[in-house]
Amino acid sequence: MKGKTHAAVGTSVFVFLCNILPGKFGLINLAFAIIGSLLPDIDHPKSFINRYLLPFRNQATKVTIFCSLGILMLYIDSVYINAPWIKIIGISLILIGVSTHRMGLTHSILGMIIFSVVLSFFARIYELVYVEFYFFLGFLFHLICDMCTKRGVPLLYPFNNKKFKLPLTFTTGSFIGNFLEGAIIVLSLGYAGYNIQRFF
Ligand SMILES: [Zn+2]
Repeated sequence: MKGKTHAAVGTSVFVFLCNILPGKFGLINLAFAIIGSLLPDIDHPKSFINRYLLPFRNQATKVTIFCSLGILMLYIDSVYINAPWIKIIGISLILIGVSTHRMGLTHSILGMIIFSVVLSFFARIYELVYVEFYFFLGFLFHLICDMCTKRGVPLLYPFNNKKFKLPLTFTTGSFIGNFLEGAIIVLSLGYAGYNIQRFF
């Protein structure tokens, strides 16, 4: 599924649920819901995040940069810091580097938990509260949306490589897939746009 579809779904789910979550409506919370809905595809060299925010153009660059950053963090941790969360980030970066799209950590339940916990550590440092809830929500709906596609999602990675998908699926990039994603974007943004007024 495409990045813009994930972002649109993340936005509408946020608008639908923010009133019952801690922190309620806020542009920062919305931003973290959208980041959560885009982040899982960081393992794809041509994903929205990699294309526009990071200088990746192919798999080899992605592997090199993520693995180098991961090894650097583990090195800094072992020599200077010795904190568990630095180790978690380092290992996660290496796992993202070596996983091909949708084969690994960023499309698994474990990855969703690791990223949300790491984010909550950083959020405390920058005095942001509750943003991890919204990040988690965006991430969760990314996985659910990808389960609607034929490739499925390895929810139990690294313990089991089985790809989970919903009973009805479509192929990303196919005629029907593009039509459905277009409809999802229009409906999601329409819903969000209409209902967002009640927060102002
Ligand atoms: Zn994905």
